[in-house]
Amino acid sequence: MSAVTVRVPAKVNLQLGVGPIRDDGYHDLVNVFHAVSLFDVVTAEPARELEVRVQAAPHSRVDVAGVPVDDGNLAAQAARLVADRLGVEPRVALKIRKAIPVAGGMAGGSADAAAALVACARLWDDREQPVLSRDDLMEIGADLGSDVPFAVLGGTAVGVGRGERLTPALTRGTFHWVFATADGGLSTPAVYGECDRLRLEAGRTAPWPSVSEELMTALATGDAKGLGTALANDLQPAALSLRPALRRTLDAGRDLGAIGALVSGSGPTCAFLAETDEDAADLAHALDGAGVAEQIVRASGPVPGATLV
Ligand code: ATP
Repeated sequence: MSAVTVRVPAKVNLQLGVGPIRDDGYHDLVNVFHAVSLFDVVTAEPARELEVRVQAAPHSRVDVAGVPVDDGNLAAQAARLVADRLGVEPRVALKIRKAIPVAGGMAGGSADAAAALVACARLWDDREQPVLSRDDLMEIGADLGSDVPFAVLGGTAVGVGRGERLTPALTRGTFHWVFATADGGLSTPAVYGECDRLRLEAGRTAPWPSVSEELMTALATGDAKGLGTALANDLQPAALSLRPALRRTLDAGRDLGAIGALVSGSGPTCAFLAETDEDAADLAHALDGAGVAEQIVRASGPVPGATLV
């Protein structure tokens, strides 16, 4: 096999319920993941040794300067894990073309890891009945990060635990999104830390999170307005506390007609829901003019996870 290319989507968390901090430092989460049509593309090619190249996708303004090209890159770690499992040497060049903002709360690194899992498994084992199934790849991915299994799976899914135990959710139709990216990322651990700090300061213990019934009903019936009201992110106050300018972005989106608005994951990307594709186009145009974001990107969901192209 000469080269394998995989396209992998970004995610937005429709609900991110953050429970109390556990003894192991993680939080118990209720996480409704939703894959959207904003894609990174990863190509895996045979090479003398493991190497990683990262560039911005055409027409994308993603700043790739901070993305590691050594073993710090989650895609490289994914390649090594697949090689170990298949008993081969990780002799692969990974070329990553990024459209998913870096440190933007849309799980770009996890997406690249998922793409590398799928690409390398295919590169090193192209039998009709491959040794590693999708489930195996999701399980391997869970060792790399709690968002990785979802990037393999795609669609819409509920994650519990650290977010890695997934159940696909029933959805109907397509939802139309507008994303406002920000200049510079937010560190996920820093946002969780700020969430804990704010809770301590307010003297509040976090309630045990549970899946929103309202949200699941809106998804199952394709009710965009219902989904817009049910969107919830427990990390949002922390992201706003670390990056107060996001409040302006969220307000602008709501004022310009979004039927739902929230910070995506740990931020700083903001996600806006529109009722129709046309509304999304209008909203994107208006937000672009408002000057409250680095870049405005439209996408729809749900879309499949890491897919061979
Ligand atoms: P999440 O939503 O999962 O919290 P994020 O979208 O906020 O993540 P990422 O883009 O995944 O953040 O990147 C977080 C950090 O991970 C980066 O600052 C970078 O140092 C590191 N990283 C490792 N591999 C990658 C990769 N392939 N792409 C982007 N960042 C990577």
